[in-house]
Amino acid sequence: MASESSTLNDVERTDKRYVFGTWSYQSEVSPTQVVSGDGARFTTADGEEYLDLSGQLMCSNLGHSADRVADAIAEQASEGAYFAPGYATEARAKLGEKLAEVTPGDLSKTFFSTSGTEAVEAAIKIARFYTGKQKILSRYRSYHGATYGSISVTGDPRRLAAEPGIPGTIKAPDPYAYGSTLEPMESIEYIDEMLELEGDTVAAVLVEPIVGSNGILVPPDEYLPRLKEIAHDHGALLICDEVMAGFGRTGEWFGCDVFDVTPDIMTMAKGLTGAYQPLGATIVTPEIADHFEENMFCHGHTYAGHPVACAAGLAAIETYERENLIERARETGAYLGDRLEELGADHPSVGEVRGIGMFRGIELTKSPTERVPFGHREDKVSKGTTVVDEVAARAADEGVYVANMINTLIIAPPLVLTTEEVDEGVDALDIALEHAD
Ligand code: PLP
Repeated sequence: MASESSTLNDVERTDKRYVFGTWSYQSEVSPTQVVSGDGARFTTADGEEYLDLSGQLMCSNLGHSADRVADAIAEQASEGAYFAPGYATEARAKLGEKLAEVTPGDLSKTFFSTSGTEAVEAAIKIARFYTGKQKILSRYRSYHGATYGSISVTGDPRRLAAEPGIPGTIKAPDPYAYGSTLEPMESIEYIDEMLELEGDTVAAVLVEPIVGSNGILVPPDEYLPRLKEIAHDHGALLICDEVMAGFGRTGEWFGCDVFDVTPDIMTMAKGLTGAYQPLGATIVTPEIADHFEENMFCHGHTYAGHPVACAAGLAAIETYERENLIERARETGAYLGDRLEELGADHPSVGEVRGIGMFRGIELTKSPTERVPFGHREDKVSKGTTVVDEVAARAADEGVYVANMINTLIIAPPLVLTTEEVDEGVDALDIALEHAD
């Protein structure tokens, strides 16, 4: 899909000249102009249509033509686009109430922001204020955002450029059965020991319930309940970062619903508006909310609870409900999983296919027996393309967009994807992977 710079059109050339490309060497940025989207497809300026197997950045859960959300945005913008956070708006109040309804357990009071990274920043601050402790324990195979607090708790190589980051962050091993020397449930006992050795100084354990961009890692059923127990035993809160796993992606509303666990704090963004507006949210239990009745909640942004973004969030949740998208994700996701398993079995370059619902990963490896360990593989910190980049580029030649992170293809399509589109996508991946074997 990426155009050669010599063939960039006017918009692409202007964009390249005046706008920073994210997470990239600017010399390698070669933007493709997108002009429209419909359902699980989008179209570029040169008229090429792509099936979106990754929901852009794993966020376009509703597909590219959710009219209810678009209408709600237009209506709110014309009625009153922005009022300061000190004022209540119907959109914000109703979205807060709705989130208390769809999130697990007694999570009930939300701080709104504008992105996943800000949702994580708020979670860190709330945990520190509430517990009076400073340390946050997170895991190596994780991504929590790009601002200083959230990149400091991120474990993957993207954190390196920002190190040392904020003080008081500790990293632990992950439940990565395929590529780690520790079994998932051994890794959790390791965390237990770390918390013991840190004494009573850790405010929170922060995890993605199902790891997203670091490879779609689904832990064993017992993992998250045990993690909550361990955290609480050591006086630490459990924060679940649902920015990518939330809003139907797993076939449940949230990743932690898969394991029947209610965290103390939960972060959301991406699917919260189906990417129709930038919106982040951090929801907490009543005990944590109560703490701030008489202790100042020392946090906020100009656009905290922006009415247009909240109207989009509310309409997005209504769309998930009315179109049964969570159930559909479960059903289509099961079919997707079967098709990807078959695909993996046909290609020696596929190390492991894993995931749940509409949240799947294909980890590539140099050979079926060689499990390239973390940190020793080519990754996005190095300049140049990787094997996974090349597979994604070949998939684009076949009319399919697939995101790739480190050494994994991330399959996280809009939840409106049909089984016919699953077949179309898997067939394209089959051709794309042929050259990697
Ligand atoms: N947390 C998780 C689990 C994510 O996957 C991401 C982004 O991919 C973030 C936080 C950061 O979100 P944003 O890019 O909206 O700042």
